[in-house]
Amino acid sequence: MGSALFHGGTILTVDANDTVLANGWISVRDGRITALGPSASTPGFDRFDETIDLTGHLVMPGLVNAHTHSVMVLFRGRSEGQSLLTMDGWYNSIREPELSLVSSDIGPAVALSCAEMALSGTTTFADQYFFAEEIAVAVKASGLRSVIAYGVVQLGDAARGREELAKAKAFLEQQRSADGRVIPWFGPHAPYVDNTEELLQAEVEIANQFGVGLHLHMAAGPEDNDETEKRYGRTATVALEKIGFFNGRIHAAHCLDLSEEDIAVFARAPAASVAYCASAGLRSGREGICPAVALRAAGVVVALGTDNVAANNSYDMVSEMRVAGLVASHRERRAQPISSRELVRMATIDGARALGLGHEIGSLEPGKSADIIALDLGGPGYSETPDPETLLVYSGSGRDVRHAWVAGEQLVRDRTLTRRPYDDIRREYSATYQQFWARVAEAKRNREVA
Ligand SMILES: [Zn+2]
Repeated sequence: MGSALFHGGTILTVDANDTVLANGWISVRDGRITALGPSASTPGFDRFDETIDLTGHLVMPGLVNAHTHSVMVLFRGRSEGQSLLTMDGWYNSIREPELSLVSSDIGPAVALSCAEMALSGTTTFADQYFFAEEIAVAVKASGLRSVIAYGVVQLGDAARGREELAKAKAFLEQQRSADGRVIPWFGPHAPYVDNTEELLQAEVEIANQFGVGLHLHMAAGPEDNDETEKRYGRTATVALEKIGFFNGRIHAAHCLDLSEEDIAVFARAPAASVAYCASAGLRSGREGICPAVALRAAGVVVALGTDNVAANNSYDMVSEMRVAGLVASHRERRAQPISSRELVRMATIDGARALGLGHEIGSLEPGKSADIIALDLGGPGYSETPDPETLLVYSGSGRDVRHAWVAGEQLVRDRTLTRRPYDDIRREYSATYQQFWARVAEAKRNREVA
């Protein structure tokens, strides 16, 4: 892969001191950052195979989308007026059509999602869905980094539960030795809504056996807590702690309805994190808002996620930082209880830590993987300021991303994908979309006839 020198531009290192380097430089060898510094110490260009001039850009670690379901791009615009964080809303607009998915739909859908993520600066994402094997193939082709959780939806069907567990095990086995950009996890969908106690126990055992994390939805819909309160007299979080879910790494999306006791469960767990999905939460019309400020104050890692693009419409993590900041201000009734600088950390290093990758990505430091993005600061909204993080969060957009690298490999150059043309990905996706929704309509007609 050779060596490269990135020079010029304002570098947000997102290191422990949030060091910002005006006109800085970063040297990379074989996909890893070897050194970085301010302009006065820029090394000689002749020592590198490649030099990349990033003058006029904001240079920072690739963004980490800590919660999504990449296949669900097929449902974009299909749940208007439905709350995806209630059982009915989800069942009506997603679950029923989802039963018509076939494995050949997955690759083209995931390819489009990966293209949109790369073009808007996301270099790592946490995915959770069934068809995990097909997702892994498409992610590998994209070059992005992903923690793919094999999703299990049981819905009271014991045979389906057993079958899914066997498939999940096969996936974890198969991906274990695979290349480092795809990391397999396990993903019970929403524990108390659709899983039996027996299945939940089996899920924890599998996660322990394979040493992988659990990525699930928690305290997202009213049913989650209502069901467990009814059955066990405690919240879903406390109930899951009792059966061992919090002993290993656990990453919980949404967390809209956490009590103080629930927050304490997260805080005392050795490796628990939350994916705060502000846009999806707002759009769902649910009353609760993730207590991100209280969680952070308790020492819990809080990352940011778009959730699926039926709920969000967009994979733009720059926009997600802004919405997360606005919602936190609204919830806490004070100005910016989470600063722009902290929001940048949540979208980078905290996302990396949530996924167990804090040693590898999430900040620009010697020894870490060269997962780097550069945003063009030439457009409207980017006038001079002493605080580049404010500029990014409250003026910026994922559409300003001009270049992106993963492990030193340039995946986006001048807003263009390098591995496969976007038009090609889009064409294949459009054909798949038509076929999928024709299949859904046919299934519906057959059900009505029967
Ligand atoms: Zn979700």
